[in-house]
Amino acid sequence: MPSKPNCHQAKPLVGYLGLSRHAFLLLLLIFLPVRSLLATPIDGMVGKISQTDYANYVQQLQNFGTRYYNTQGNVNALTYIYDAFIGFGLDVGYDAFSYNGNSYNNVVATLPGKNHPEQVYIVGAHMDSTSTAPTTNAPGADDNASGMATVLEMAKVMVGYAFDATIKFFGFNAEEQGLIGSKAYADKAKSNGEQVLGMLNFDMIAYPGSGGGKNVFLAGNSGLVDAMANNALKYTDLTTTLNYNNLYGSDHYYFHSSYFNGSTSAFAIEAAPASIPSHNPNYHKTADTVDYLDFSYASNVTRMGVATLAGLANVIPEPSSLLCFLSGGLLIIFVHTRTKQNHNNYS
Ligand SMILES: [Zn+2]
Repeated sequence: MPSKPNCHQAKPLVGYLGLSRHAFLLLLLIFLPVRSLLATPIDGMVGKISQTDYANYVQQLQNFGTRYYNTQGNVNALTYIYDAFIGFGLDVGYDAFSYNGNSYNNVVATLPGKNHPEQVYIVGAHMDSTSTAPTTNAPGADDNASGMATVLEMAKVMVGYAFDATIKFFGFNAEEQGLIGSKAYADKAKSNGEQVLGMLNFDMIAYPGSGGGKNVFLAGNSGLVDAMANNALKYTDLTTTLNYNNLYGSDHYYFHSSYFNGSTSAFAIEAAPASIPSHNPNYHKTADTVDYLDFSYASNVTRMGVATLAGLANVIPEPSSLLCFLSGGLLIIFVHTRTKQNHNNYS
């Protein structure tokens, strides 16, 4: 009686593995969708952070010459950030506030949540600058084009994903005058009953210090600080120094639960300062330019940030991953059925 033709004889390699061709195909079809699911959306976002784009944002912001709160350079920089958000496909607006009898603007882009749009997470950085010649020459590359570029790069990447909660991307103004723009928004959000659940702030995150420094200082709400530290460990070579206090000195301050009940906030700043401000010798000087910055380090701070915010706002798995998984399953059923039919033909 002749032996039935079977899959073992079909391909030498497959036969070598001791698998039938169909079994091999089945394993492949199982492996591919499972692998696509194992690579989480957060992995995908972290992988899309571009050092080149990041560095370009810092350079463009520096190129305004000054972003001091009451100058045309400040207005031009606001327009640049507004247009960048528009370019990503986000809803954008100016958020007006008054200071010393005049009106100024923050800029804010919104990515609405799919399942809980009323729940809001904010990521922000101050876009204004200062120096010893603030109205004419305040490049503010580290302070704080570096943080604003992080917010822009995060927005660029996150707009391609869906989240349970709403994310607001802020460029805060007049921080150097005493957190004016961010306090104005925090006060408004409080009085409007906006559910701001968390706020991450980036201020001076591109000068790690001489000797290839890798340390980033994280301060504020312990849950947010720990989440950032964990993501730094998971996705970057950064080391972290943690502080669970609401330190005054940047825009996270009025979003902390001690001021804004229901909200939490934390911020990231380069290196491990003994005190704020950081150890950057060019701080608030005309020499605060891109020439002294480390964009590899700053990109890693941005990766830490995007992973943390995506976790907070609860990213929804990409439809492509689900489609791949489902189509893989359908293919498995199809091949399995065909295999049975083939065997039936031979019997
Ligand atoms: Zn600053």
